[in-house]
Amino acid sequence: MKNFLNRWLGRKRCVICGRKPVDPSRYYNDEGRAVVVCRTCVTYAERRAFRKR
Ligand SMILES: [Zn+2]
Repeated sequence: MKNFLNRWLGRKRCVICGRKPVDPSRYYNDEGRAVVVCRTCVTYAERRAFRKR
């Protein structure tokens, strides 16, 4: 359920923590979807092999 919400709100909220990103970075996740990642989760995004866009 949380994963679903994250995908659904992926454009506006951080795809990892689900909060509104303060300083969002744009990434593509491992499915090639455009997502937003907040600054604190960027390192996690890099580990998940998200691609910057
Ligand atoms: Zn986050």
